[in-house]
Amino acid sequence: MKRFGLIGKPLSHSFSQKWFTEKFQHEGLKAHRYDPFELDAIEEFPQLISSTKGLVGLNVTVPYKQTVIPFLDAVDPMALAVGAVNTIHIVNGRTTGYNTDVLGFRSTLLPLLNGKKPRALVLGSGGASRAVAFVLRDLGIKFRVVGRTREKGDLTWDLLDPILIAVSPLIINATPLGMFPDVDTFPPLPYASLGEKHVVIDLVYNPEETLFLKKARLQGAITANGVHMLHTQAEASWGIWNAK
Ligand code: NAP
Repeated sequence: MKRFGLIGKPLSHSFSQKWFTEKFQHEGLKAHRYDPFELDAIEEFPQLISSTKGLVGLNVTVPYKQTVIPFLDAVDPMALAVGAVNTIHIVNGRTTGYNTDVLGFRSTLLPLLNGKKPRALVLGSGGASRAVAFVLRDLGIKFRVVGRTREKGDLTWDLLDPILIAVSPLIINATPLGMFPDVDTFPPLPYASLGEKHVVIDLVYNPEETLFLKKARLQGAITANGVHMLHTQAEASWGIWNAK
C-alpha cells in the first residue's frame, strides 16, 4: 500500500483527501490511499513519519507550512526561498519539502497579465501570501503586502484608501476572508475605486465566487478564483511523489 495524506489543523474540510481519493479511484490505483493526519503540534511530525508504514507523500496546510521546515531532512531551494512547504516526499524515511502553490498561482496569474507588470497589493501575509510574493518578485512585478499589523506587512488595512486601490491594478486576496463557512466576510477595501483596469484574484476556492470577487466583478474588474491554483498545486504534488 502506498500512503499519502495531509497534515494540518483542523482538517474538517479537506479538498485534498476527496481529490486524491477520487483520482485513485478513476485511475484504478487500488493500492493507494490518502488520509487526513491532524497534528495537535508540529512536534508530532517525526513520529508520524516513523510510524506510518508505506508513507510516500504528504501535503501540508494551515498552520504548518512554515513550521514544518526545521523538521525536514531537505528542502527544495524554491520552497526555501518562499519560506513555506506544502508538499513532502518521503523516500526511505527521508523527507524533502517542496512548494507547489508557487506553480499553482503562477499558472493562474500569467494568462491574466497580457504581458503587463501591474503594481500589486497582496492581502494577507501567511503561507499562501509568501508563494504569491515569490511569483510576483520572480515576474518583476512591484507589490506591497497588507497585514493586520505593521510587522506582518508593508501596509496595514486602514491605509487602503481609494487612491492606493486606483494605482494598484492587481489585487490578490491571500486571507481566508470569504471562505466557507464565513461566506459573508470580505476584505475591507474601498470597492468603488475598482474598475475595468483591475485584475482581482482570490486564492479562496470555496465558494467559487466570494463576496470579494463579486464586488470586484460588479465594478467591472477581471476576476479569478483559487480553483485553478488548487488543482494545479495538487497535480504538481502528485508529480513530485511519482518522480524517480
Ligand atoms: P495562513 O497562513 O493562516 O495566513 C492567513 C493570512 O490571512 C494571515 O496573514 C492572516 O493574518 C490573514 N487573516 C486571517 N484572518 C483575517 C482577517 N479576519 N482579517 C484580515 N486578515 C486576516 O493561511 P494561508 O495558507 O496563507 O491561506 C490563506 C487563504 O488562501 C486560505 O483561504 C486558503 O484556503 C487559501 N489558499 C488557497 C490555495 C489554492 O490552491 N487555491 C492555496 C493556498 C491557500 P494574521 O497573520 O494576522 O493572522
